[in-house]
Amino acid sequence: MKVEDKVKIYLDKIKKENPRINAVLHINENALNEAREIDSKKKKGRLYGYVIGVKSNINVKGMIANCASKTLENYKSTFDATVIKKIKEEDGVLIGMLNCDEFAAGGSGENSAFGVTQNPAAPGRIPGGSSSGSAAAVAAGFCDVALGSDTGGSIRNPASHCGVVGVKPSYGLVSRYGLIDLSMSLDQIGTLGNNVGDAALLLDVIKGKDENDTTTFDSKQIEIDEVGKITVGVLKVKGVDKRIQSLIDSKITESVKKYGWKCEDIEIKHIDLAVQTYYPLVYVEFFSATRRFDGRKYGKKIEESCGEEVLRRILGGSEITKAEFSGTYYRKALEVKELIKEEFERALREVDCVVLPTCPGLPWKIGEGKKMKIEEIYAYDALTIPANLAGICAVSIPAGKIDGIPVGMQVMCGKGQESKMLSIAREIENI
Ligand code: GLN
Repeated sequence: MKVEDKVKIYLDKIKKENPRINAVLHINENALNEAREIDSKKKKGRLYGYVIGVKSNINVKGMIANCASKTLENYKSTFDATVIKKIKEEDGVLIGMLNCDEFAAGGSGENSAFGVTQNPAAPGRIPGGSSSGSAAAVAAGFCDVALGSDTGGSIRNPASHCGVVGVKPSYGLVSRYGLIDLSMSLDQIGTLGNNVGDAALLLDVIKGKDENDTTTFDSKQIEIDEVGKITVGVLKVKGVDKRIQSLIDSKITESVKKYGWKCEDIEIKHIDLAVQTYYPLVYVEFFSATRRFDGRKYGKKIEESCGEEVLRRILGGSEITKAEFSGTYYRKALEVKELIKEEFERALREVDCVVLPTCPGLPWKIGEGKKMKIEEIYAYDALTIPANLAGICAVSIPAGKIDGIPVGMQVMCGKGQESKMLSIAREIENI
């Protein structure tokens, strides 16, 4: 099928169903023209045929990247993020900008200034977040694949809740140039798709060293292959819904049986501190990143136009920064981050990958988040944050359903081991 015809189908579907799902904030009005142009090319790129959605915190020249915030409501990007440049070079067609929690701060999709996104796979429930629109757009069939960003789980959490695949790459695999920061020492752009293969292909296109982001490193092509006799490290964390843990356990048992893998329980001693370590880091870095939104250059003054969660982080970040001369919070958090990173490195020398659920609970009903304490909401990130603190790669793949609601499991590998991780994920997906 020509990509032009595919774009037509997607645009039609978005027109009909997006008023209900609310995954897409802005359509790329030029998508059909771009598709037509690509169809007529003699030599086509690796992403030919792929229609791609973009989280609203990634700059796409000429599109609105408002981070689902009133602060940047009419902010039109003047340049392409590195990932977008690479996608265009490989003939991917961008369909539009996708909803998210405001400035990627949240885990439910309820913090968007432009309304919550519905979970297409579990009607009436949150899609997860913060890349709520990215996961929902893939699940609803509004695009083939999507870009999201993951600071503490924002790709994997919604992927899990919407029943799709979501990859958080190792820190530095993908350029952050053109991503509007939540927490620059943890943020990574990653991919979501209907299957491991699609998410891996898009990741392979966008990865690579970039002189505009000095944290990036060179990497080999991502290849999905059969995996030999590996040892799977099983990580059990407190506070997981029993039904979720037993679903993941049986998925692991099935995989181990089918492929003749070995299985070993592993322990990450400081994992219970992950949430308390993560939030001070994010608050401080986010506070600092938002100082440019003072109402002069970009949009409105953030404190006067943002939602509750963003304001909480700005005020909290400012307080921590003031107290920092004594090294009470930020420096302590960095120390624990290092401990967790070392523990993962040690574990991943013994086993080939670490597996665990993606989220400790099922997606809650839309509106219930308002009644929850902020600590309860933050606790939902307990299983995803560790990979960001450790800088390693992690993927969430569908593991099954409970009462018809999707549940995801994570596979984590060491820094730069995306090929191995995605190969293992593909084997599990194929069961
Ligand atoms: N839920 C986490 C937070 O609110 C993760 C956000 C993210 O990964 N962007 O910070």
